[in-house]
Amino acid sequence: MPVGHGSRCFAVRKNRPMSEQQDIIDKDLLKVLACPDCKVSVRLEGQKLICDKCGRRYPIRDGIPIMLMDEAEQPGKP
Ligand SMILES: [Zn+2]
Repeated sequence: MPVGHGSRCFAVRKNRPMSEQQDIIDKDLLKVLACPDCKVSVRLEGQKLICDKCGRRYPIRDGIPIMLMDEAEQPGKP
């Protein structure tokens, strides 16, 4: 199909979830996230992202996963 005209304003977003009952981050985003240390995928648990390998828990703020080792909680840390 011919695309002659430049696309104009497509900025209107369809869904704007007002409730926080749904997943706090996108499932597709979750799939590509990985522990920066172990390079393995993480899983969502509550409001945190868990790395099963090292056990670090990465916080999610405003829907943005904070995949930083400095920000992660380490269970079992002395
Ligand atoms: Zn890890």
